[in-house]
Amino acid sequence: MRGKKNNLIGQKFARLIVIKKSENRYWNGLVWICVCDCGKLLEVAGCHLKRGNVKSCGCLRKKPGNLNQNFRHGDTWANGRKRLHSIWHGIKNRCLNFQQPSFKYYGARGIRICKEWKENYLVFKSWAISSGYKEGLTIDRINSRGNYEPSNCHWITKSENSKKSCREHREKIDINQPKDKANNDVLS
Ligand SMILES: [Zn+2]
Repeated sequence: MRGKKNNLIGQKFARLIVIKKSENRYWNGLVWICVCDCGKLLEVAGCHLKRGNVKSCGCLRKKPGNLNQNFRHGDTWANGRKRLHSIWHGIKNRCLNFQQPSFKYYGARGIRICKEWKENYLVFKSWAISSGYKEGLTIDRINSRGNYEPSNCHWITKSENSKKSCREHREKIDINQPKDKANNDVLS
């Protein structure tokens, strides 16, 4: 009971969602890394979250509740930070949207996006930043049959990625098809 009460991960306090425990302590209490609805990361003491002393990164005072749901995290197509958002959107399309051409290589083969990422772009974003995302890197699944989830994903350069997918494409053909047929069906 006690452990559960003290673990705030995933809970939402006003505009803040708790992502993980910080190494820092506030007096003797736990401090949590939170992501604000506007996209900023910050550390807040648990007691301040529970008492409602801290409700946002500070943006709440500047713009009280007038932000559109779609634009509140600031990463949509409308501004320069759109790339990470479009990566997230691309993953969801590959795994969930059967009308997308690439769905047959992902969703149709049972590759999923984890619930936390699917439901909340900010959770994906905070994972991306904490795992070394930089402009120009692409997301890669370590096990190509595994899901899009924190334990199976990392960031690699485009050239590493295309080398890897070439190799996997060859392996797939070797496994799935007789040798003589493989040469004719490379692009099927
Ligand atoms: Zn904020």
